[in-house]
Amino acid sequence: PVNRTPEMQEERLKLPILAEEQVIMEAVAEHPIVIVCGETGSGKTTQVPQFLYEAGYSSDNSIIGITEPRRVAAVAMSQRVAKEMNLSQRVVSYQIRYEGNVTEETRIKFMTDGVLLKEIQKDFLLQRYRVVLIDEAHERSVYTDILIGLLSRIVSLRAKRHVPLKLLIMSATLRVEDFTCNQRLFPQPPPVIKVESRQFPVTVHFNKRTPLEDYSSECFRKVCKIHRMLPAGGILVFLTGQAEVHALCRRLRRAFPHPRRRPPEKEDQEDSVEEMRKFKKSRTRAKKAQAATLPQISLDNYSVLPAGEGDQDREAEMDEEEEAALGSDLDLDLGDDGADGGEQPDASLPLHVLPLYSLLAPEKQAQVFQPPPEGTRLCVVATNVAETSLTIPGIKYVVDCGKVKKRHYDRVTGVSSFRVSWVSQASADQRAGRAGRTEPGHCYSPKVSMAPSVLDISRKRNHSCKRLQGSPPMRHVSVLQSFPAESGPVVGLGRAIFCAAVHLSVINFPFPTPPSVEALIAAEELLVALGALEAPQKTESMKQLQRSRLSCPITALGRTMAMFPVAPRYAKMLALSRQHGCLPYAITIVAAMTVRELFEELDRPAASNEELTKLKDKRARVAQMKRIWAGQGASLKLGDIMVLLGAVGACEYSGCSPQFCETNGLRYKAMLEIRRLRGQLTTAVNTVCPEAGLFVDPKMQPPSESQVTYLRQIVVAGLGDHLARRVQSEDLLDDKWKNAYKTPLLDDPVFIHPSSVLFKELPEFVVYQEIVETTKMYMKGVSAVEVQWIP
Ligand code: ADP
Ligand code: MG
Repeated sequence: PVNRTPEMQEERLKLPILAEEQVIMEAVAEHPIVIVCGETGSGKTTQVPQFLYEAGYSSDNSIIGITEPRRVAAVAMSQRVAKEMNLSQRVVSYQIRYEGNVTEETRIKFMTDGVLLKEIQKDFLLQRYRVVLIDEAHERSVYTDILIGLLSRIVSLRAKRHVPLKLLIMSATLRVEDFTCNQRLFPQPPPVIKVESRQFPVTVHFNKRTPLEDYSSECFRKVCKIHRMLPAGGILVFLTGQAEVHALCRRLRRAFPHPRRRPPEKEDQEDSVEEMRKFKKSRTRAKKAQAATLPQISLDNYSVLPAGEGDQDREAEMDEEEEAALGSDLDLDLGDDGADGGEQPDASLPLHVLPLYSLLAPEKQAQVFQPPPEGTRLCVVATNVAETSLTIPGIKYVVDCGKVKKRHYDRVTGVSSFRVSWVSQASADQRAGRAGRTEPGHCYSPKVSMAPSVLDISRKRNHSCKRLQGSPPMRHVSVLQSFPAESGPVVGLGRAIFCAAVHLSVINFPFPTPPSVEALIAAEELLVALGALEAPQKTESMKQLQRSRLSCPITALGRTMAMFPVAPRYAKMLALSRQHGCLPYAITIVAAMTVRELFEELDRPAASNEELTKLKDKRARVAQMKRIWAGQGASLKLGDIMVLLGAVGACEYSGCSPQFCETNGLRYKAMLEIRRLRGQLTTAVNTVCPEAGLFVDPKMQPPSESQVTYLRQIVVAGLGDHLARRVQSEDLLDDKWKNAYKTPLLDDPVFIHPSSVLFKELPEFVVYQEIVETTKMYMKGVSAVEVQWIP
């Protein structure tokens, strides 16, 4: 029995999915696998787990598990469901990679795909679970696909043992053919339940003029217009990244400050008269605008109207109005980003501005769900996380920059880059739809053809795979060239496939959408090269070779590696570290390499001169600390990997305090993640080799010189395919090759990233963790290597 508050009960009843409770629960009772589709906001994530709980699917100590593609969603949804059910977070809990609040009492557990995948590795039958829900299945990733593939097998195994497992797949789109028409995946097509959406109409307004190049400024202008002209209702802005989100938040807060944040000072008094006048004027205008914008909307669902087909008149009115109202302010501002470009603060119209992006601390994320302070308007500036995973209450206006930033990963060259491109039409519709949850809404969007952009990456590929010029013959380099790395959208392809390979052969794996054979072969080659899978038999014909290739059996080393919850190349590093007391160091290195962004971003734009000075000081301090951590001689050659080791060591020595992190430019959250992963990896290593008797030592001494030498070999064993050689003098004809490195797969020069301790050292050979393309192609996580190590 669930004791919900009457208010909560009332709120729930508004959700369209409540009407489908019986249909859904009957389908679940009768079928092992059920698909539920419904618009974002219809109540899938928050309600279906409650239906299952109330139907007794968590009795006998079993758990209802829900996977989310994003950590943000796992945390936020567990909190929301606990609140709705009036239960503690000890019962409705979450687990993300290194963090969670799961207890013995947990009955509903939200987690990321990766967490469930890891549990499958430990207990293939997932015996603690009676139901597993795969949420946001429209956001397919390799992880989701592998999970669904594995779960299809687990469901049938559990059925054979008469302890059935129910699988629910939930999606915001109706395109579920991959699940319903894939005999290999689900021999019996599962029933699909469609939840009627109660979406209010959303009118989409396109720019009449060509949008500004600078889409952040364009969004700023639009938010100002909406806030000054249009009736109450929250504003949700979509931008592409964290830095942009912060910059726009700052600008908006400055333009519409909260009155209490600006106590009136003497010199301000004239201003306030002016502000009062402006306020009155804008109120009158807002009223007029309100009259002009009262819903002329009678569409069944939200529509995407091109400019000139219906909303032109109002658009024109708004343009004129707003130009009269704030033309001068905005003109000053055009094209000017960062510094506050002459926007006059207007304290009469406070705007409650909140950022929202994945890396934001959970308690800050939770703020967007709170009602804004009395008398203010909520404005959430978000990245893509707000597109489908989270529904923010009270949003009436969406301002869409029309763009999305995605990490692009080239499997052939191993280069990752962040690319900003136009969003797809489906994403644009999703974003617009966020405006119509509680009443009819409006979306402001640039007018573009939303065709997916075609990425031109051909120039960088060098399919002939030339050998490094002038380098000694390095046979194994050419063998390793076709490695996929473990980053980017194929994050964990290696690891995921590995997990698949442990239980089922890769070629026969029931993928919802199989990856290309090329990708599978590449992943398998990585595993073979790392010694995790047996090398394929040498055979005469190509065909035989192909066949034997995708079915290599796992080796003993592979089984050991699979125990470690990290990508295969890191698992290999751990597996090699048993000698010379290297394990604690290898664990720390692997933990630190696996956690993204150990150091704070210090190249961000500063809001004031004061902040700029602070940033500069900090940058100098961090650079100095990095040099200290890297040390000299052999340890400096270990380069950025040594810095990781030193940073983690020093931070733990200090008790891992937020102050230590703050002073030294380390991300506190990352340090906590590393600490947790160290614990986890230490436990894993102790399971594999109990005689190691490892523990996490907060006062770990730095490695000895000989240990550093072993560590360098271990790093090369994991990153050996990521080798680069400094260009030789004969290549220096062109200036663009100055201080450049050459890798086997790229025609273009790559460089050591300026944040690296080896930036000035320029060793002849280096291995790197990843290549990221910004203005140039940069290697990050760099270590020097000596070629004679290469057999
Ligand atoms: P779906 O999974 O179908 O997209 P959700 O279950 O996430 O839908 O959300 C259903 C509704 O619950 C949303 O429309 C929103 O109004 C409300 N909601 C969700 N999370 C919160 C929260 N943290 N605070 C307040 N309301 C919330
Ligand atoms: Mg959802």
